[in-house]
Amino acid sequence: MDFRSLGISDELLEGLDAMNIRKPTPIQQQAIPAALEGRDLIACAQTGTGKTAAFLLPLIDVITGYKPKEEGSIRALVVVPTRELALQIDQQMQAIAYFTPITSIPLYGGSDGAGFDQQKQALTGGVEVVIATPGKLMSHLNLGYVPLKGVEFLVLDEADRMMDMGFIDDINRIITFLPKDRQTLMFSATMPPAIRELSKRILHDPVEITIALSKPAEGVDQQAYVIFDMQKAAILEHILNTNEATSIVIFAGRKVEVKNLNRYLQKKGFNARGMHSDLEQSEREEVMLAFRNRRLRILVATDVVSRGIDIDDIDLVINYDVPRDPEDYVHRVGRTARASRKGTAITFVNEKEMREFGRIESLIGYEVKKMPLPEAIGRGPAYAPTARVDRGGNGNGHRRKGGGRRSGSGGRR
Ligand code: AMP
Repeated sequence: MDFRSLGISDELLEGLDAMNIRKPTPIQQQAIPAALEGRDLIACAQTGTGKTAAFLLPLIDVITGYKPKEEGSIRALVVVPTRELALQIDQQMQAIAYFTPITSIPLYGGSDGAGFDQQKQALTGGVEVVIATPGKLMSHLNLGYVPLKGVEFLVLDEADRMMDMGFIDDINRIITFLPKDRQTLMFSATMPPAIRELSKRILHDPVEITIALSKPAEGVDQQAYVIFDMQKAAILEHILNTNEATSIVIFAGRKVEVKNLNRYLQKKGFNARGMHSDLEQSEREEVMLAFRNRRLRILVATDVVSRGIDIDDIDLVINYDVPRDPEDYVHRVGRTARASRKGTAITFVNEKEMREFGRIESLIGYEVKKMPLPEAIGRGPAYAPTARVDRGGNGNGHRRKGGGRRSGSGGRR
């Protein structure tokens, strides 16, 4: 399944593409079509599941595709427990909505008088999406100028945390300011009775989604080498020569890489075979049998194999490249340490793959150990998973107006 088949617009697909996000996560697969249909939603999902994009994408899609109900009104309100989360969501918003004309502002406490006035100006100046902490939003609401008549979306993110932090009264008050005719999307990492009760009160016939985040088994010792691309072959050779593992799978993303690597390893005298979609069925079976019987030490394979193979005692998995899809990382790494055994999974991360790997780390919820390079390999690049990829222009804060498609003619595309 891809994002296009979920029904979102070309501008958003472009934004996702620029972020290198290609395949919807399970929560996105379930939440996006439901939200686009206009349904309310209650989703039990933790950080790391891709839940932010799961509500931002449909929300932006609808806002850019339909005329506002009320000219000048805020159209979507996202309420979150902390300023960090408000900022983080606004950053994702900016990236995803880069090719659309949507405007947004994060609203959180702690700003001085001038900051407050600026927020007031933004709130009354036609901003479409507001991402706010409850306390700060209430201080503006109490002054009476926030245009909320045309709010079409209310999102409550990390609802359980907002409850824990004592924001329930604020939330109840905020809801009294909003039109009844709106769509409400609620996200919570846990579903205690208080959240159930709140959802019954404020949601209308919601779609319920529960997502369990898949994570690598605990028995896997995960390691990463941060290296330049040209160092990969040398470090691979070093590991294969020094590691005592007898059953090794090396994953590469593309068939051509699998073929090249296999050729390289065989030339170096390693007991290796390649496994990819060009092989005849009989050849595949022969390779798998040899690997299962431990006549073959090293299997070089594409991701097709990571989901398919059923071999219990692989003791070392090497990701020659960082998988595009974090779920593929979990699948690849899951080939080792099966049935509670111990195993090792090593990933090679080059300069261009750091962001991708950082995303995997945020999805699995922890940092993978970075290994020092052997002296003979030389120095690698510094690990900088959050380094921005400069796409030019528009780096200046919250408000933006792009080219985009708002034609002024209104109505549905
Ligand atoms: P969240 O659960 O919203 O906090 O997202 C966690 C991380 O996953 C963020 O860094 C997102 O940019 C990233 N992410 C969101 N959706 C996807 C996707 N479909 N594929 C890969 N990464 C994603």
